[in-house]
Amino acid sequence: MAKYIFVTGGVTSSLGKGIFAASLAKLLQSRGYRVTIQKFDPYINVDPGTLNPYEHGECYVTEDGAETDLDLGHYERFLDIPTSQANNVTTGRVYQTVINKEREGAFLGKTVQVIPHITDEIKRRMLLLGQSGEYDIVITEIGGTVGDIEALPYIETLRQIRWELEEHETLVCHLTLIPYLKSAKELKTKPTQHSVKELQTIGVRPDILVCRTEMPLTDDMRKKLALFCNVDRNSVIQAMDVDSIYAVPLELQREKADETVLKKLQLPIGTPGNLDKWNKFLNDVRNPKSEVTIGLVGKYIELQDAYKSIHEAFIHGGASNHAKVNVEPIHSESIDDNNAAQLLGHLDGVLVAPGFGNRGIEGKIAAIKYVRENNIPFFGICLGMQCAVIEFARNVLGMSDAHSTEMNPKTAYPVIDMMEEQRKVKKKGGTMRLGAYKCDLKKGSLAEHLYGSEHISERHRHRFEFNNTFIEKFENAGMIATGRNPDNKLVEIVEIPAHPYFIGVQYHPELKSTVDHPHPLFTGLVKAALEYKSKHKSSKKAVLN
Ligand code: GLN
Repeated sequence: MAKYIFVTGGVTSSLGKGIFAASLAKLLQSRGYRVTIQKFDPYINVDPGTLNPYEHGECYVTEDGAETDLDLGHYERFLDIPTSQANNVTTGRVYQTVINKEREGAFLGKTVQVIPHITDEIKRRMLLLGQSGEYDIVITEIGGTVGDIEALPYIETLRQIRWELEEHETLVCHLTLIPYLKSAKELKTKPTQHSVKELQTIGVRPDILVCRTEMPLTDDMRKKLALFCNVDRNSVIQAMDVDSIYAVPLELQREKADETVLKKLQLPIGTPGNLDKWNKFLNDVRNPKSEVTIGLVGKYIELQDAYKSIHEAFIHGGASNHAKVNVEPIHSESIDDNNAAQLLGHLDGVLVAPGFGNRGIEGKIAAIKYVRENNIPFFGICLGMQCAVIEFARNVLGMSDAHSTEMNPKTAYPVIDMMEEQRKVKKKGGTMRLGAYKCDLKKGSLAEHLYGSEHISERHRHRFEFNNTFIEKFENAGMIATGRNPDNKLVEIVEIPAHPYFIGVQYHPELKSTVDHPHPLFTGLVKAALEYKSKHKSSKKAVLN
């Protein structure tokens, strides 16, 4: 049977519970344990699929098509193993299950209550992955902050699980903030003491305190925290601010967090894991030999989290080229044909982001026209690929009002149209084409060259697609479908072979980029940007000479 580690948060939100969970999991994995991480989110939405990215950041999609919290992206990027529907649970989903059971009469006339019915359902889901036999350790991150009304049923369930299982079968890591007061020149432990007290009021005593801090903790502070928060001296773990989230596992290793956890769970400590590959990656991130600037054209650019996986995939793809990628966010609403040169002319590459709806669409199309005509490396993802198709139709094929029927249902040239299976769909939540689908690549294409294979599988999240009735016109004019679904022939990739680097994909490659396996399309874009930069610079020099 698996052992369970719970991660709670105190004092403030945004302390990085997800990164901590992923980093601890990485260390345990490197010691040979089979680890997975799950996240419980206290909000009422059934999943984040219907949430605006401004509210919740990116919606991360798993292989099995679940729309989930972006922390699952961190889990996958760190552990290099896929997560699933079971790895993310929300209050909405818990209530939905309980209410459906109530409607079926499953509670036999009983009053349905938070305790025991909601907590029983939370418990069932918390223990589920651990019962599969696939994992030795399940780490459960509880969203929100201790003391939130919404988090209460989760902490209560955690208390019950602790009570039911043996002491060495569960562990609570409480992540907390140790603020530094500039005026007093001091780190303060009081907020942590209060949040631990809050946790203890519900009957949960943390085993390990993980202290987020901008200054190192002194021995005296560690002693004080241990004494007043009722934990062992070596269970106060310092988590200093670092320059990269990928440095966190190494910081935790220095603090012997993994050893402390394994001892408490009465699991063999074994030999320290081999993190050579990880260290090499971090070294490449920290010591790049060159740099490129790539524009990220999107409409949610004010919020970094909205394109989380894209930013991380750039870090992976940069490191594999020994290069730093400066991602320059460009608001799609700000671009038009007149200012495109000014906004994009200095870039070494452009990525046009995924998205929904009309806002900013013309700016994305204008950006693509500019990079296509000026041979700047281009990568379009999902809506970005669809915009590349629309731009080509309008400006190369002369279909002046060509559009996606998502934006203009009455267009004379519906080059992007709703998928057949989507036409009958009425409900919004969880009904897009979601999750992993196979794709066959054309021999000799850029895609085949980059993937090094003719058969791939990638994750999707969309309702619209390339309208195959137009394919001949596109291919005759130089935009080629180089990736197709083998079963229904949906176009998944378009390329312009006459352009130095022009590729648009209907799926989301950013979701599969990990530290161990940087995504070939991001590695490829960075490489193309480096080549463009060196060529461009030398030609500029030639002009100056
Ligand atoms: N809105 C487009 C569609 O549904 C693209 C979606 C996306 O970019 N994820 O097809």
